Amino acid sequence: MSIFWKIAVIGSGPAGFYAAGELFRQQSWSIKVDMFDRLPTPFGLVRGGVAPDHQKIKSVTKIYNRIAENENFRFFGNVEFGRDIHRSDLLELYDAVIYSVGSPSDRSLGIPGEDLPGSHSATEFVAWYNGHPDFRNHKFDLSVKDAFVIGMGNVALDVARILAKTPEELSKTDITDYALESLYESKIEDIWLVGRRGPLQAAFTPVEAREFLELDNADVVLEGGPFELDKASQLILETEASKDTKKNIEILKQISAKKSSDKNRRVHFLFLASPLEIMGEGRVEKIRMVKNKLVKQDDGSLRPKATDEIIEENAGLIFRSIGYHGKPLVDVPFDQKSGTIPNESGQVIDSDDSNSLLSREYVTGWIKRGPTGVIGTNKQDAVETVHRLLEAFLQEKIEPRQTSNSSEIESLLESRNVDYVSFEDWKLLDEHETETGLAQDRPRVKVTAIDEMLEIIMDKR
Ligand SMILES: Cc1cc2nc3c(=O)[nH]c(=O)nc-3n(C[C@H](O)[C@H](O)[C@H](O)COP(=O)(O)OP(=O)(O)OC[C@H]3O[C@@H](n4cnc5c(N)ncnc54)[C@H](O)[C@@H]3O)c2cc1C
Repeated sequence: MSIFWKIAVIGSGPAGFYAAGELFRQQSWSIKVDMFDRLPTPFGLVRGGVAPDHQKIKSVTKIYNRIAENENFRFFGNVEFGRDIHRSDLLELYDAVIYSVGSPSDRSLGIPGEDLPGSHSATEFVAWYNGHPDFRNHKFDLSVKDAFVIGMGNVALDVARILAKTPEELSKTDITDYALESLYESKIEDIWLVGRRGPLQAAFTPVEAREFLELDNADVVLEGGPFELDKASQLILETEASKDTKKNIEILKQISAKKSSDKNRRVHFLFLASPLEIMGEGRVEKIRMVKNKLVKQDDGSLRPKATDEIIEENAGLIFRSIGYHGKPLVDVPFDQKSGTIPNESGQVIDSDDSNSLLSREYVTGWIKRGPTGVIGTNKQDAVETVHRLLEAFLQEKIEPRQTSNSSEIESLLESRNVDYVSFEDWKLLDEHETETGLAQDRPRVKVTAIDEMLEIIMDKR
């Protein structure tokens, strides 16, 4: 009988799957992977974050499906670390644990009025339109005229684009039915994207920006007159700007040169502005912002600095999109400031002694490096973590634990009445969603309530 190393992976987003894939690629190691997720559905932000009108990106799940087909892979969905299973359980049953739980919360602006009704995080809105079970009952009042999105990264652009698109443009996607219904009723006319820095420092990518030139019913406007860069930015553009930055600038020039038409909506790009206060009687009514200018730093970089020019605009809805932040896992070391699990190349650093590393605990993805990068970035990240794990096992001469058999985790979950689902179960739900979608010429119709997901799986089993 061959002896297997047993690895638990917590979180089934891209990072978790890439880690599993890399573990299975090791010819000289026999490895079994059990992957856990708090949701019955796998794939993390690929299902719950990536925009519904970006279906091509979601096809990355084909790679994850192939990894899941490995005979040494098992999925335990609807199992939450910290609620249904604990660190001590996993260290007892597995040779190592890899945490890949992502960064589910958002950063706040820290300004007055931020908590007024009508002010939301982009995280909530994105999770709502994508059918994350925790957010399906959220309400967004789209009966207002002006919506502000604070931030200029790709997530901010996703939010602005979803608000700007017509229901017809979205009806062939897998956006949730309730979101589509709300968007049908939307009275939003002006959508503002607010960035504290200048065009050169914008965090969005050209592909996302270009889409605003092609919207059926929304014009795009560059606020502040014809496109112009300050001298220092112009010099950086000419000497050291990346390809993407140069493309962004070309697109912004096109936006600036665009004549307005009779479309019903407008998306405004407002650079060099920071929100100071959100105002309103009982709900969001106005936003007060300060204009910034770019100031050269000692290292040559340009940083925004507030001027004394104040802008006040009517606002009915505000979405802050200034970054995600990790949440601590029970009993696992956590660095509050960076929102990550402290680690050295993916190996978790002991919280009691920062000079020592935990030999059987590892981390990958957003919870390792912070919420940056695209889906593919998590692959290199997971490869680094897996190699660190294998090296540590070799160096410390860790032997596979032969005490536990593979049904122990199932017995444990059953003893705790955890209604876990397998990858085959998820496939049944997937089949239900895609079949319902096919009848409506859509990629899928998402089931968003956990009870309903479990019922469908039970019926189909
Ligand atoms: C709105 C949005 C849109 C994006 N669009 C794109 C895009 O178009 N293209 C692109 O390349 N990248 C995109 N990204 C980035 C990409 O989604 C991330 O790089 C990637 O998902 C990070 O992977 P991860 O595995 O670290 O985290 P996640 O994808 O967040 O996965 C974490 C998983 O852990 C699970 N989990 C959390 N806590 C627990 C727990 N306690 N117990 C068990 N399970 C738990 C979660 O349910 C989730 O399934 C987008 C990100 C966002 C936020």
